[in-house]
Amino acid sequence: MATFYLHSLGCRLNQSELEALARRLVGMGHGVVDDPARADICVVNTCAVTAEAERKTRHLLRALARANPQARIAVLGCAATLRPEELASFPNVAWVIPNEEKERAVEALTPTPGPSGHPLTPTPRPPSPSPPLWERGRGLGEEVRARTRAFIKIQDGCNNACTYCIVHILRGPVRSRPPEEVVAEIAARVREGYQEAVLTGVNIGAYGQDLGRKDGLAGLIQAVLTRTDLPRLRLSSVEPWDVGGSLLALWSDRRLCRQLHLPLQSGCEATLRRMGRRMTAAEYARLVEQIRAAVPEMAITTDIIVGFPGEDEAEFAESIAFVERMAFARLHVFPFSPRPGTPAARMEGRVPEPALRERAARMRELGERLAARYRRQFLGREMEVLWERRRQDGLWHGLTDNYLQVVTACPADLHNRITRTRLVGEEGGFLVGEVV
Ligand code: SF4
Repeated sequence: MATFYLHSLGCRLNQSELEALARRLVGMGHGVVDDPARADICVVNTCAVTAEAERKTRHLLRALARANPQARIAVLGCAATLRPEELASFPNVAWVIPNEEKERAVEALTPTPGPSGHPLTPTPRPPSPSPPLWERGRGLGEEVRARTRAFIKIQDGCNNACTYCIVHILRGPVRSRPPEEVVAEIAARVREGYQEAVLTGVNIGAYGQDLGRKDGLAGLIQAVLTRTDLPRLRLSSVEPWDVGGSLLALWSDRRLCRQLHLPLQSGCEATLRRMGRRMTAAEYARLVEQIRAAVPEMAITTDIIVGFPGEDEAEFAESIAFVERMAFARLHVFPFSPRPGTPAARMEGRVPEPALRERAARMRELGERLAARYRRQFLGREMEVLWERRRQDGLWHGLTDNYLQVVTACPADLHNRITRTRLVGEEGGFLVGEVV
């Protein structure tokens, strides 16, 4: 039996895939550890959504080889699909597994024992001359044991063609898991003690298209709420054009968390057209109005790309004004990063680096102001908080259903408990709570 260290980069989908891998490995009797220095095999599920994500992949692979020169490394996922040869040349990398072969990763990493009976004995390698370096990252051993929030993959792939996006190229068309399988997985997580499940995928709003299901994501959510006792169900990102009345009606069940991450990408109509997005800013604004009428206090969060090719100061000003008007609860801001093979990478009008950085800083600053404004509405209120972990400073950290981050000083063990909590103050982007 071997010992694995698992590390996920990028999106929640990557994390959910690695959690599923961890469960299979543990089920087979292998070990999963939080420290790469104790592992026989390090597995990295990579991201290639931006050039920065690829840089992190390279950095992590080098750091792992230095942290444990004896361990072999398996590289999975989007960067492995985009640049297999380059990543295979990194020290200690023994497997490069692209997205289309990910499902078979366990079999590749744990072949049946040969005559020696020790298929996983690492090939000895000379120690790296570099000094040991390890930065703790998102190792999954701890998260799998934490058992508060489970990330459940419900589909893969996307049939859209946003011009900047490499993900739909690397992950292919929509493939959905059968609803019974998703419900069974969530029921199993509930039995293990998880309080919350997050439905993840590349494009979860497209769930069921390939299965010929008309009720799609709404039908799946309904099935989960009806057939399991899950205390909280949360959705990851949903494309705005996939949100309709049947989905919004589901929030009458308070177990569905009041958070919708609706990627906008730009608030400028002309930029959105060049991005190949399927919704105009005006349509997006009408949808936000409809959502707030149906579910008051819904945390609407979004992604914004700044410096898309051709975005001049006037377009950026239109975008930032629109974002302010939408009063988002949280923004994820990405400076444009050309991805090989995408139409946007070939577009003219590339925004110079200093302007990219300056626009990203302005948009992030707006994001912080909007987040603070959203958060402060809840000061003085009592809300339910799922406590996830105790921080190094001794404070418990948890989340409300509408994704407010709350901290509290409490001597009791709050881990994985949902408590009524009075929100009494604010400190560094967090609300300070008192357990009632
Ligand atoms: S909706 Fe657009 S950005 Fe999202 S995965 Fe599909 S093509 Fe990419």
